Amino acid sequence: MEKKKIPGLPHLQFHNLFCIGRNYVEHAKELNNEVPSQPLVFLKPTGSIIFDGDKIQIPHQSENVQHEVELAVAIDKTGKDIPKEEALEYVGGYGIGIDVTARDIQQKAKEKGHPWTVAKGFDTFAPLSTFVEKDLIEDPQNLHLQISVNNEGRQSDSTKLMIHTVADLIHYLSTIFTLQPGDIILTGTPKGVSAITTGDTIKASLSNGLATISVTVE
Ligand code: MG
Repeated sequence: MEKKKIPGLPHLQFHNLFCIGRNYVEHAKELNNEVPSQPLVFLKPTGSIIFDGDKIQIPHQSENVQHEVELAVAIDKTGKDIPKEEALEYVGGYGIGIDVTARDIQQKAKEKGHPWTVAKGFDTFAPLSTFVEKDLIEDPQNLHLQISVNNEGRQSDSTKLMIHTVADLIHYLSTIFTLQPGDIILTGTPKGVSAITTGDTIKASLSNGLATISVTVE
């Protein structure tokens, strides 16, 4: 498959799509999950990535597909065992993403101790905005995440509430994986996830329009 360029950061092509689960206390609680002491990591296939104006497809295998709005971080340098203090130097830009989740499939996987790949990885399950160069973002832990469904607000919280900061996550991931240019990290969702259905219009915004995405559900 042809590699996709990261919108807003055209010198980068999408590489791995790392995702973090349970990185906000109130969201972990709303799904009756324990808060992990280390970041909970999973991956989505890059084939799940879609962009502004595209459509989320509801798979026939699920009857409960939900939105999770998240800060997306694009890596633009190769690094392994990156110290926390240097971690933000590896960022090329920030955007807003939606970690679309088949909650019913995920619930069954959790009960059985199975991986989340299917619940998280369907085609179209990773809508991503155009990215903003990192120089325009003073502090990634002081951004506002917002998402609405049919103009009704659903999630609205600050990245101040993250358990593991962006720098923590880059450090932690790089102790396991060599981070590479074009890697994306979806950094976890705050409280307020809810179901989406055919015909819905979903709009997400980073800090009052710094980055935005609008998608519909097919
Ligand atoms: Mg998520």
